Parts: sequence; structure tokens; C-alpha cells
Amino acid sequence: MKKKELPPGLHRDTLAVRAALEPSQYGENSEALFLTSGFIQPDSETMAHRFANPLEGYTYGRTSNPTVSSFEQRLAALEGTEAAIGASTGMGAILMLCMALLKSGDHVICSRSVFGSTLNLIGREFGKFGVESTFVSQTDVNEWKKAVKPNTKLLFAETPTNPLTDVCDIQALADLAHNAGALLVVDNCFCTPALQRPIEFGADLIIHSGTKHLDGQGRVMAGAICGTAKLVNEVFGPMVRTAGMTLAPFNAWVCLKGLETLGIRMEAQSRHSLELAKWLESHPSVARVYYPGLKSHGQHELAMKQQSGSGAAVVSFDVAGKTPEERRKNAFHVIDSTQVVSIATNLGDVKTIVTHPATTSHGRLTEEQRQAAGIGQGLIRIAVGLEHVEDVKADLSRGLDTL
Ligand SMILES: *Cc1c(COP(=O)(O)O)cnc(C)c1O
Repeated sequence: MKKKELPPGLHRDTLAVRAALEPSQYGENSEALFLTSGFIQPDSETMAHRFANPLEGYTYGRTSNPTVSSFEQRLAALEGTEAAIGASTGMGAILMLCMALLKSGDHVICSRSVFGSTLNLIGREFGKFGVESTFVSQTDVNEWKKAVKPNTKLLFAETPTNPLTDVCDIQALADLAHNAGALLVVDNCFCTPALQRPIEFGADLIIHSGTKHLDGQGRVMAGAICGTAKLVNEVFGPMVRTAGMTLAPFNAWVCLKGLETLGIRMEAQSRHSLELAKWLESHPSVARVYYPGLKSHGQHELAMKQQSGSGAAVVSFDVAGKTPEERRKNAFHVIDSTQVVSIATNLGDVKTIVTHPATTSHGRLTEEQRQAAGIGQGLIRIAVGLEHVEDVKADLSRGLDTL
């Protein structure tokens, strides 16, 4: 598991293409994909040593794999953490995090606006094992403060949120967590380290769904946790080796190569997003636009402090309409009139994706819960890709101009 020898002080753009393991004896310039479940050992003594010290050599695919190690080193270099560990999916990473850090009687505080499966995993599934949880406002730090208890072990945040792009104050939550003797976890899926590095604002652990921007081209499922070498090697490593939410080498390789272009993709996709958001804001059929890079965004200043570029690559907007029924009809008309973008559920792809949250990601909520969450029937989410932004505007105009 020898890291490539790189001089200190390299820029992130350089680390994105250079941080990895050393090449094999063949000297491949592009990092190799090691598709193997087992590794041949030179002798019994070495094998015994590697079984006792899993960080010192490869033995079995559930334990570690060189392609996965390269991905982990590159992601950690970009996030600015000491280490990272891969997982089969983003949810696999959050499962690993909770299994490794929590036990019956512990308490978690989590934003009410995090990814739906995260809410279910922490609230419902871990609830079954006696882990308590309190769900609080994304934006009101006082609610988090009031929720702290002597048994609070984790604060879990995601910023900005899906689909309304609400931002939380990472520094304030980190201070709160540390005063309570707890850890702050930030799901950095939307911004990626290209636009936001939670570690710089005091977060302890960072969650990734590699499925989104790290792959960036919608091909594989992957996840990761970034944090200190101690937590990664001594707490999460043993958990993933035991429980098996291991990242597959092929998926790691796709994400490893994806990280090489992450910076330029995020820069371009967030630039397109800002342009699209501004255009939507001036369209007469649009009631409201949600995008951190807009001055009209409720937390524009905080977002610009935490996030670089113009924020992220997701823009949501409410289509105008008098009643919820009419707004839903109008939203469906805009979505169904598109001829270029994809009607799909993923995000973080170079192909622009359009979704109707009220009937998909938030479809299982009751109407009251949806209203409380601000997810109206007229809401459309655009995960902005790399098409020419004028073509995306024209595609949305087909429906917006004919309402
Ligand atoms: C998609 C997503 C996840 C889950 O990732 P999977 O790879 O689908 O398991 C977690 N958090 C956020 C913010 C996401 O968008």
C-alpha cells in the first residue's frame, strides 16, 4: 500500500490526477484496475503478518484492494483529510459510519432535510437497535443546540440540501458538536471537495456518494467516508472488513478516474447552474428559484463563505400556478416537453437530469409533510450537466413558454 512519492505542497488540481498508490512493476501511467478477489502471498510468514496487519499488504478483496486504495488516497487528498475508506454505495458509507460509531443508548442529531434514505436509516433502522435520534431544522442552529443530550455522539448534516439547496453553518455545528463531546459528520455529496471542504470548517467526518459527482458520468454506485487516519484505520476499516459493505474495484476505478476531471466538471456545471438559475428567475412562468449562488437565496452569504464557484450543480424552481393541482399539471408539462435533458432520478451526471420531487424522491411523504418541507407540487429539480446551457434553456422553454 505504498503511496506514490509526491513532493509536499502540491495543489489540489495536481493531487486530483496524481495522488494514488505507486504503479505496479509494469509502470502503467493510468492507475490499473485490479479485478481479483484474492492475492497470492510470497510465503506463509508474510501471509501471517498481513492477516495480523491488514494495512501492510493485500490478502482478500473484502479487506482491501489496490485500486480501492488509490481511490481512497486521491479522495482524501482532495478533501484534505488524513484518510478515506470506500464503501459499496453512499448509503453503505453511512451504514458503516453508524455501525462503527454508535451503540444502543447513543443519540444522534440530524437535519430534517437530509437525503431520505439517511433519515430512514438513522431514524427507523438504527431506532430498532436502541439508537435515539432527534431531527432538527437545517438552518436554525438553536434547534440543534436544544437537542443536545449527555448521550449525543453524532451530529449529521448535509449541505446544501436536496432539492431546495438549504445551507447549514458547518462551523457553528462543528463548535456545537465539539462542546458536546460529539462528532460532526457532513454529507458533501452535492458540492464535492471541488466546491466545499467541510474539514476546513471543523467537520470531523465527510460522507460521499461516489455515485454522484465523483463518478460524474452516471455509471457506477460507490461511497466513501473521509476522516482521520485513526478513525478510518481503527474504527471504519475493521467494520467494513467484518460487515462487507466493500467498494468494488471496478467502481473504485471509475471514480478514481472521475476524480481527475472533478474540478473542471464542477466548475463548469456550477457555472451553467448559476446561468440557468438567473435565467429561470427572470422567466414569467417561474414563481421562485432555489440556488445558493443567487443573491435571492436565503443563505447566499453563508453559502458563498462555505462553497466556492457559484455553489453547486442543482437548481430547483417552482412553476407558477393557482392551485396545487394546476402547479403539478404545469410542472409535468414543463418536464414532459423537454427533448434533450433526461427525466430520471440521479444527480451529479454530465447529462442534465430533470425530476419532480413531490411525486418521486418525496412522493411517500404526506401532503402536510411535503408542505412542511417546502416541496410543492410545482417544484422541478434540475441536476445541471455539461450540455451547452443555451440548449438546456431552450429545452425548458418548450414547456415554460407554452403554459
Ligand atoms: C445519493 C445520495 C446518497 C446515497 O448515495 P447512494 O450512492 O445512492 O447510496 C446520500 N446522500 C446524498 C446527499 C445523496 O444525494
